[in-house]
Formats: sequence, structure tokens, C-alpha cells
Amino acid sequence: MNDPNAKKKCWAASLGDCAGGISGEHLVSQSLFPDGSVIVQGFHWCKGKPKPIGLASLTANILCFKHNCDLSELDSSAKRTFDTLVESMALYEVRRKLHLRRYSIKQFLIDGNLLERWFLKTLINFGFEREWIIGEGQHPAGEPSEELVRIAFGRAAFRHKAGLYTASHVGEQVTVNDKFELHYSPKTIGNNLLAGMFTFSEYRFFLNLLPQEFKEFNGANLMHQTVKHWYQVPDDKGRQVKSHRLGIIWH
Ligand SMILES: [Zn+2]
Repeated sequence: MNDPNAKKKCWAASLGDCAGGISGEHLVSQSLFPDGSVIVQGFHWCKGKPKPIGLASLTANILCFKHNCDLSELDSSAKRTFDTLVESMALYEVRRKLHLRRYSIKQFLIDGNLLERWFLKTLINFGFEREWIIGEGQHPAGEPSEELVRIAFGRAAFRHKAGLYTASHVGEQVTVNDKFELHYSPKTIGNNLLAGMFTFSEYRFFLNLLPQEFKEFNGANLMHQTVKHWYQVPDDKGRQVKSHRLGIIWH
């Protein structure tokens, strides 16, 4: 009874195949964000101002060894995605100063399924054993629904208009911010945590846990899944010409 881990449980326990004991899972992998923090806003423990959460101090015991291991592919995929976003921004920064009339069009692609699951995993990590019911329904607060757990592990898919969205403002200009931090804001209705906005530099992603469509969040237009974003840069006469394209692929 003196085992300090006796009460610790894995958030994927509903899958029924936990193994290897509870492991120290970083809420968000440290390797993704070298400065070691994620900015979170909207939890009772950080009301008001956005608060950086140091990753090293957030080694929480929230997944068993097997399930931690099963999700490690999501971290490596997320790392590739954020690297791709940085490369796309860097190319924009270079080309917007060149003032050429034509470019070889480069295409940057992101794996939507794995990114969607990584945001879900991250949303569950931050919400686990906290004040809200994670997802729809009336199951205990601080726990994800069984369906969300299956989705996070790739054993089920989001229904209808649930899942990953990208956000943009009408007429938005790309402004490059060299602070590569991830900001996370949860969205709740009543006692249920139903969505989250993830902002990385000027890229904004929204994860909707409800089957209904979300069209807008905090003044931003939301687009479900499919995204093909063209980057344009000014030529020698100030006309916008196509430079490169960012797309999300689904399989
Ligand atoms: Zn487990």
C-alpha cells in the first residue's frame, strides 16, 4: 500500500491492454520544442495570462509503458510536421525579398492523420485528471471517453466534422514570427472539454471533438481537414506570384 504509483493510472486503460507499468510520459515531447515549454491558457491553474509550462517539470505518470511506446510514432511525426512548417516559412522569407517573376513551385506536405492524433494525444495529456470531462458525455471528469482513446491510438476515426481544422482570418497576410512555441487553448462547454486551438508561429490548428461542424473560433474561420495553402510573394513590379504550396494529406 506504500507504493507511490499504486493510484496512478494510464489514460488508455479502457483499451484493456496496458502493460509494463506506468511510465513517465512528457506531456509534449521535449525534442519538439527545444526551449522546453508549451504556452497554455484557460486552465484553472493558469487563469488569465498565457503561462509557459516547462516540459521537464511536467513529466507526469499518465500512460503505461506499452501505450506510451505505441504513441511514440506520433511524436516523431509531429516533429516532421513542425520542421516542415518552419521550412515553408523560411522559404517565404527568402523569396519575398527576391522580387522574381517566376519560381519553381515547391510543395510542402503534412500527414493529417498523424497530426490529428498527436493533437488529440496532447489535448488528453493536458486534460487528464483535471477538472473537465474530456469529450462529449457524462463519464468522470479528467478522463477521455473510450472513443477518444481509440481514436488517439488509431483504432477508430473521428466522426463527421470532428477532427482537425486549420484556422485563418479573412485576408490574412503571412507574418513570420521566429518564436517556435506551441500555444494551446482549450475550449469547453459546461463541464466538457470539446476542442482545443493549437498555435505554432502563425499556423493555427483546431481540434474539434464534436461531430458537428465548427466554422469559427475567436474570430478565425475554420476549415475542416483539407487544406491547400498557396504562398505568394511580390515580383519586381509588386505583383503577387506563386512561390510554394502547403498541403495536408489524408489517407
Ligand atoms: Zn496503458
